[in-house]
Amino acid sequence: MRKDNEGNFRTFWFRYDGYEIKEIDEKHYITPKENSKIIMYDPFDLADDILVDILMIGRCVEKNDIEESNKKIMEFVEKYGLLGELTYLPLNTDIVKQNRIYLPSGNLVSEKETLPTDEYIELFLKCKKKQKVVMKKNARGEILDLSVENEMNPLALIDRPAEYAVVFSRAYSECLVWIMHYARTLYLTFEAIENYSKAQDAYTKQIYDTRIKEFNPSKIACKILMGKNKEDKPVLEWNFNSLKLAIDTMFALNETTKRKTVKMCKHCGKPFASQNLKAEYCSPQCRNQANVYKSRAKNKMEEV
Ligand SMILES: [Zn+2]
Repeated sequence: MRKDNEGNFRTFWFRYDGYEIKEIDEKHYITPKENSKIIMYDPFDLADDILVDILMIGRCVEKNDIEESNKKIMEFVEKYGLLGELTYLPLNTDIVKQNRIYLPSGNLVSEKETLPTDEYIELFLKCKKKQKVVMKKNARGEILDLSVENEMNPLALIDRPAEYAVVFSRAYSECLVWIMHYARTLYLTFEAIENYSKAQDAYTKQIYDTRIKEFNPSKIACKILMGKNKEDKPVLEWNFNSLKLAIDTMFALNETTKRKTVKMCKHCGKPFASQNLKAEYCSPQCRNQANVYKSRAKNKMEEV
């Protein structure tokens, strides 16, 4: 998908310039490095790169190449930040004020489908950090005030509820397997859509149908911002609750447009991005290889 030249839509996300993996209770958590710097960016400026990178991770996971997928996940978070699972997952909004979280069943973050907000937030604060997230609570355990110490406050730049300060803090972490699982699911949906017309039998088509139906991001919200000056065009501003939801949206837009820029290579099956709408192969090598196979097949036909 492609942001047009007039830049008629925008969103934002934060990343740090360094991340590390910490092992806690036999789980691997990814978290910003202690001395890393926070950077704000618009994921839509990098939409095709983000899509190709997350789909490549999914492809590695699906092929069971865990070493390569771990390497690619670290590269991914250093380029784009963590996915924002904390704000993506809950079924309800304004979770600090409501003091309770409702989660979809079968999620990887918690076995419980409902839990107090403070308990939920702690699931993302597993790594010991100098930077503290402070939750002042009353006797019933309800959060009265949530603040992040010793940090430039990203919320000063944007209009978001308090829980976003946690997601954008250096104390925040996400489990490696959450990212693996998300990338794999997205890749399988991608594969199903890209190969749909090629499915030979009813069984494969059924599998593809199910995968495509299961892709069901909720809570996509946007608003129209009018420009400050007369000559400014109105801007579609997306209120994504996470990088994950931004990726879901980029993916849905990419798969449904005629001007698709992220595709699956017809020869090797890898996801790739190309502004050339006719491009079918990820590289000249793949195109040449495919041509060789084609002419061999043709020769064979002629021999018969
Ligand atoms: Zn290829």
